Amino acid sequence: MTSETHFFTIEEWQEREEEYHNESEFVITTEGGLYNILNFGDEKQYLEFEDLLLSFGFFYELGNAWNIGFYYEENLENAPLEEPFKSYADKLRDSRWQNKRDMVKSRAGYCCQDCSSSKNLEVHHCYYQYGREPWEYPLDSLRCLCRNCHEKRGRLETVLRAKFADLRFDELAVFKKLISNSILAYNRKAFFEFLNSLGDMNGDMDKKYDEMKTIKRFS
Ligand SMILES: [Zn+2]
Repeated sequence: MTSETHFFTIEEWQEREEEYHNESEFVITTEGGLYNILNFGDEKQYLEFEDLLLSFGFFYELGNAWNIGFYYEENLENAPLEEPFKSYADKLRDSRWQNKRDMVKSRAGYCCQDCSSSKNLEVHHCYYQYGREPWEYPLDSLRCLCRNCHEKRGRLETVLRAKFADLRFDELAVFKKLISNSILAYNRKAFFEFLNSLGDMNGDMDKKYDEMKTIKRFS
Protein backbone atom coordinates (compact mmCIF):
# COMPACT_ATOMS: atom_id res chain seq x y z
CA MET A 1 0.00 0.00 0.00
CA THR A 2 1.22 3.50 -0.68
CA SER A 3 1.05 6.81 1.16
CA GLU A 4 -2.13 7.72 -0.73
CA THR A 5 -3.94 4.95 1.15
CA HIS A 6 -5.94 5.87 4.27
CA PHE A 7 -7.58 3.73 6.90
CA PHE A 8 -10.92 4.76 8.46
CA THR A 9 -12.63 3.20 11.45
CA ILE A 10 -16.33 2.85 10.77
CA GLU A 11 -17.05 5.80 13.15
CA GLU A 12 -14.65 8.06 11.26
CA TRP A 13 -16.14 6.91 7.97
CA GLN A 14 -19.76 7.51 8.98
CA GLU A 15 -18.92 11.12 9.90
CA ARG A 16 -18.00 11.74 6.27
CA GLU A 17 -21.54 10.80 5.16
CA GLU A 18 -20.37 9.00 2.07
CA GLU A 19 -22.65 6.95 -0.16
CA TYR A 20 -21.14 3.50 0.45
CA HIS A 21 -19.90 1.20 3.21
CA ASN A 22 -21.75 2.73 6.15
CA GLU A 23 -22.52 -0.78 7.40
CA SER A 24 -19.00 -2.14 6.97
CA GLU A 25 -16.36 -2.92 9.61
CA PHE A 26 -13.81 -0.43 8.32
CA VAL A 27 -12.95 1.40 5.11
CA ILE A 28 -9.77 2.01 3.19
CA THR A 29 -9.53 4.77 0.61
CA THR A 30 -6.82 4.62 -1.98
CA GLU A 31 -5.44 6.48 -4.95
CA GLY A 32 -2.24 4.49 -5.14
CA GLY A 33 -1.13 0.92 -5.59
CA LEU A 34 -4.21 -0.71 -4.19
CA TYR A 35 -6.47 1.45 -6.37
CA ASN A 36 -4.59 0.25 -9.43
CA ILE A 37 -4.61 -3.39 -8.38
CA LEU A 38 -8.34 -3.42 -7.65
CA ASN A 39 -9.47 -1.40 -10.63
CA PHE A 40 -6.98 -2.16 -13.37
CA GLY A 41 -4.95 -4.88 -11.72
CA ASP A 42 -3.00 -7.69 -12.83
CA GLU A 43 -5.31 -10.60 -12.00
CA LYS A 44 -2.67 -12.40 -9.94
CA GLN A 45 -2.08 -9.45 -7.58
CA TYR A 46 -5.82 -8.96 -7.27
CA LEU A 47 -6.39 -12.63 -6.36
CA GLU A 48 -3.53 -12.54 -3.87
CA PHE A 49 -5.09 -9.50 -2.18
CA GLU A 50 -8.48 -11.22 -2.07
CA ASP A 51 -6.91 -14.39 -0.72
CA LEU A 52 -5.11 -12.51 2.05
CA LEU A 53 -8.37 -10.92 3.18
CA LEU A 54 -10.24 -14.22 3.08
CA SER A 55 -7.63 -15.78 5.31
CA PHE A 56 -8.50 -13.10 7.91
CA GLY A 57 -12.23 -13.75 7.44
CA PHE A 58 -13.02 -10.57 5.49
CA PHE A 59 -14.69 -9.78 2.23
CA TYR A 60 -14.36 -6.43 0.59
CA GLU A 61 -16.36 -4.41 -1.87
CA LEU A 62 -15.51 -1.42 -3.95
CA GLY A 63 -17.97 1.43 -3.48
CA ASN A 64 -16.69 4.24 -5.66
CA ALA A 65 -13.52 3.09 -7.38
CA TRP A 66 -11.42 4.72 -4.64
CA ASN A 67 -13.08 3.34 -1.50
CA ILE A 68 -13.15 -0.20 -0.24
CA GLY A 69 -15.44 -1.48 2.50
CA PHE A 70 -14.42 -4.50 4.55
CA TYR A 71 -17.01 -6.90 5.89
CA TYR A 72 -16.71 -9.88 8.21
CA GLU A 73 -17.82 -12.95 6.37
CA GLU A 74 -20.79 -13.54 8.74
CA ASN A 75 -22.09 -10.08 7.76
CA LEU A 76 -21.94 -10.92 4.11
CA GLU A 77 -25.70 -11.34 3.87
CA ASN A 78 -26.01 -7.61 4.70
CA ALA A 79 -23.57 -6.61 1.99
CA PRO A 80 -25.19 -5.03 -1.04
CA LEU A 81 -23.88 -7.34 -3.75
CA GLU A 82 -26.32 -10.10 -4.69
CA GLU A 83 -25.58 -12.63 -7.40
CA PRO A 84 -28.38 -14.33 -9.31
CA PHE A 85 -28.82 -18.05 -8.61
CA LYS A 86 -26.24 -20.25 -10.32
CA SER A 87 -25.82 -24.01 -10.19
CA TYR A 88 -22.58 -25.40 -8.77
CA ALA A 89 -21.54 -26.46 -12.27
CA ASP A 90 -22.08 -22.87 -13.48
CA LYS A 91 -19.99 -21.59 -10.59
CA LEU A 92 -17.13 -23.89 -11.54
CA ARG A 93 -17.18 -22.27 -14.99
CA ASP A 94 -16.94 -18.81 -13.40
CA SER A 95 -13.68 -17.05 -14.25
CA ARG A 96 -13.05 -16.33 -10.55
CA TRP A 97 -12.97 -20.08 -9.86
CA GLN A 98 -10.94 -20.80 -13.00
CA ASN A 99 -8.32 -18.26 -11.86
CA LYS A 100 -8.16 -19.60 -8.33
CA ARG A 101 -7.97 -23.16 -9.63
CA ASP A 102 -5.08 -22.22 -11.90
CA MET A 103 -3.24 -20.62 -8.96
CA VAL A 104 -3.59 -23.82 -6.91
CA LYS A 105 -2.30 -25.97 -9.78
CA SER A 106 0.55 -23.62 -10.49
CA ARG A 107 1.55 -23.51 -6.80
CA ALA A 108 1.66 -27.34 -6.83
CA GLY A 109 3.94 -27.30 -9.89
CA TYR A 110 1.16 -28.97 -11.96
CA CYS A 111 1.52 -32.22 -10.01
CA CYS A 112 -0.87 -34.12 -7.75
CA GLN A 113 0.00 -33.16 -4.15
CA ASP A 114 -0.68 -36.74 -3.01
CA CYS A 115 0.90 -38.97 -5.69
CA SER A 116 2.86 -36.50 -7.94
CA SER A 117 1.04 -37.53 -11.12
CA SER A 118 0.64 -34.76 -13.69
CA LYS A 119 -2.47 -36.28 -15.37
CA ASN A 120 -6.12 -35.17 -14.98
CA LEU A 121 -5.43 -32.54 -12.34
CA GLU A 122 -8.35 -31.16 -10.35
CA VAL A 123 -8.62 -28.85 -7.34
CA HIS A 124 -10.08 -30.18 -4.11
CA HIS A 125 -11.87 -28.09 -1.45
CA CYS A 126 -10.73 -29.51 1.90
CA TYR A 127 -13.87 -28.10 3.55
CA TYR A 128 -17.07 -26.33 2.56
CA GLN A 129 -18.83 -23.50 4.33
CA TYR A 130 -22.45 -22.63 3.71
CA GLY A 131 -22.80 -19.48 1.61
CA ARG A 132 -19.21 -19.38 0.34
CA GLU A 133 -18.60 -19.43 -3.38
CA PRO A 134 -16.06 -21.99 -4.66
CA TRP A 135 -13.50 -19.21 -5.29
CA GLU A 136 -13.98 -17.65 -1.84
CA TYR A 137 -11.70 -20.09 -0.02
CA PRO A 138 -8.12 -19.33 1.03
CA LEU A 139 -5.41 -21.07 -0.98
CA ASP A 140 -4.35 -23.14 2.04
CA SER A 141 -7.71 -24.89 2.03
CA LEU A 142 -7.38 -26.03 -1.60
CA ARG A 143 -5.34 -28.95 -2.84
CA CYS A 144 -4.24 -29.91 -6.35
CA LEU A 145 -5.01 -33.61 -6.89
CA CYS A 146 -5.24 -36.04 -9.80
CA ARG A 147 -8.75 -37.35 -10.46
CA ASN A 148 -7.99 -40.67 -8.81
CA CYS A 149 -6.60 -39.13 -5.58
CA HIS A 150 -9.43 -36.57 -5.57
CA GLU A 151 -12.08 -39.31 -5.51
CA LYS A 152 -10.23 -41.35 -2.89
CA ARG A 153 -9.72 -38.31 -0.68
CA GLY A 154 -13.36 -37.23 -0.97
CA ARG A 155 -14.52 -40.66 0.24
CA LEU A 156 -12.01 -40.73 3.10
CA GLU A 157 -12.92 -37.22 4.28
CA THR A 158 -16.59 -38.25 4.38
CA VAL A 159 -15.74 -41.29 6.51
CA LEU A 160 -13.57 -39.14 8.81
CA ARG A 161 -16.39 -36.66 9.38
CA ALA A 162 -18.66 -39.58 10.29
CA LYS A 163 -16.03 -40.81 12.79
CA PHE A 164 -15.73 -37.33 14.28
CA ALA A 165 -19.47 -37.37 14.94
CA ASP A 166 -18.74 -40.06 17.53
CA LEU A 167 -16.31 -37.85 19.51
CA ARG A 168 -17.00 -35.32 22.23
CA PHE A 169 -15.67 -31.80 21.74
CA ASP A 170 -12.73 -32.27 24.15
CA GLU A 171 -11.72 -35.49 22.39
CA LEU A 172 -11.90 -33.84 18.98
CA ALA A 173 -9.80 -30.94 20.31
CA VAL A 174 -7.04 -33.46 21.12
CA PHE A 175 -6.90 -34.35 17.40
CA LYS A 176 -6.53 -30.72 16.44
CA LYS A 177 -3.71 -30.24 18.95
CA LEU A 178 -2.06 -33.51 17.91
CA ILE A 179 -1.94 -32.47 14.29
CA SER A 180 -0.89 -28.84 14.77
CA ASN A 181 1.76 -29.46 17.45
CA SER A 182 3.24 -32.75 16.35
CA ILE A 183 3.85 -31.78 12.74
CA LEU A 184 5.89 -28.85 14.07
CA ALA A 185 7.75 -30.88 16.69
CA TYR A 186 8.61 -34.16 14.97
CA ASN A 187 9.89 -35.54 11.72
CA ARG A 188 6.70 -35.85 9.67
CA LYS A 189 7.34 -39.37 8.33
CA ALA A 190 8.38 -40.73 11.76
CA PHE A 191 5.32 -39.09 13.37
CA PHE A 192 2.88 -40.72 10.94
CA GLU A 193 4.64 -44.10 11.25
CA PHE A 194 4.21 -43.88 15.03
CA LEU A 195 0.52 -42.98 14.67
CA ASN A 196 0.09 -45.86 12.26
CA SER A 197 1.59 -48.27 14.81
CA LEU A 198 -0.79 -47.22 17.62
CA GLY A 199 -3.01 -50.11 18.58
CA ASP A 200 -1.16 -52.46 16.22
CA MET A 201 -0.81 -55.78 18.00
CA ASN A 202 2.44 -56.68 16.23
CA GLY A 203 4.13 -54.42 18.72
CA ASP A 204 6.55 -52.05 17.01
CA MET A 205 4.81 -49.09 18.64
CA ASP A 206 7.63 -48.61 21.18
CA LYS A 207 10.23 -48.68 18.41
CA LYS A 208 8.29 -46.17 16.31
CA TYR A 209 7.89 -43.94 19.37
CA ASP A 210 11.65 -43.95 19.99
CA GLU A 211 12.30 -43.19 16.32
CA MET A 212 9.86 -40.30 16.36
CA LYS A 213 11.66 -38.80 19.37
CA THR A 214 15.16 -39.24 17.93
CA ILE A 215 14.89 -38.62 14.17
CA LYS A 216 15.56 -34.95 13.40
CA ARG A 217 12.60 -32.99 12.13
CA PHE A 218 14.19 -32.25 8.74
CA SER A 219 16.03 -35.41 7.76
ZN1 LIG B 1 -2.75 -38.34 -7.34
